[in-house]
Amino acid sequence: MSKSTAVTSAICAIVLLCLPAMACASGGINSYSGDQPVVRDIDGLYARLEKAVAPQSFIKAQDLGEVVYGNFKAPIRLYSIYNRSGFKYKAFLSGGIHGNEPAGTETLARFIESLARDPALYGNVSFEIVPLTNPWGWSHDIRYNRDGIDINRDLAPLRSQEARIMAGYLKENRYDLMIDDHEDPTASGFYMYQYAMPSQALSRKVIAAVRAGGLPIEQNVNMVILKTDDGLIDAPMWGLWYMRATGQIGVPNYSRLYNSDNVYTIETATRLDYEERLSAHQKARQIMLDELVIKQ
Ligand SMILES: [Zn+2]
Repeated sequence: MSKSTAVTSAICAIVLLCLPAMACASGGINSYSGDQPVVRDIDGLYARLEKAVAPQSFIKAQDLGEVVYGNFKAPIRLYSIYNRSGFKYKAFLSGGIHGNEPAGTETLARFIESLARDPALYGNVSFEIVPLTNPWGWSHDIRYNRDGIDINRDLAPLRSQEARIMAGYLKENRYDLMIDDHEDPTASGFYMYQYAMPSQALSRKVIAAVRAGGLPIEQNVNMVILKTDDGLIDAPMWGLWYMRATGQIGVPNYSRLYNSDNVYTIETATRLDYEERLSAHQKARQIMLDELVIKQ
């Protein structure tokens, strides 16, 4: 092996070893006992949304499946908001796959409420929204599911109930836009991922708007190869296939390979003000919907 070949091989090995860190920290841990304190009310969340959507015939709630751990039972619920006028686009929005990232679920709950209040809001878009992908983790403020599995690494091995439910639904569908709302307990600012996109223009527009709103932009997420570049992690297609091949694929990676050409992950730093974080998620979604769907 020549010296340059050896160097190239070493670099490739390092890249492959570091790729598991491609979407907000990684790994799984041991199972939980189930004795952890409940800090959020799943029934309350779903009751709040039921109250909002019940008067509107263009919104339908359906359970994609039920997550069961002994006495703990909770659905992963999909809210379908049908096209109300004009040309039809399809968007899939998800959040709450990491249970200690509360703004993801809350921003989608508020968006469902906004759509229920205003039938003209993005009237030419059909939305499918899963606000709570990890009910056990969210109710206990824990990143993982009760088996200690990071669901957002599990869309290929499908060891978790939650990943089986999500993959089972997503495999049938194509979307014009997909957004997964996350948070980051270790970051100091806002950042986002895009996946195998030809241009950074839209992501840069989102980041500029969040910056103009006063939120700090993350400059140094803790990853070795794919670092944030002024708030953006631009994941290449070969990285997605690597994650797929090594069985560590998350919802956005899976979605980019199988469901949509336009997939984004939004990340806010949990150390910042909650309402400011929610505002950033809302702003990012609004800009992407305006650009990709309405004006396309
Ligand atoms: Zn996350």
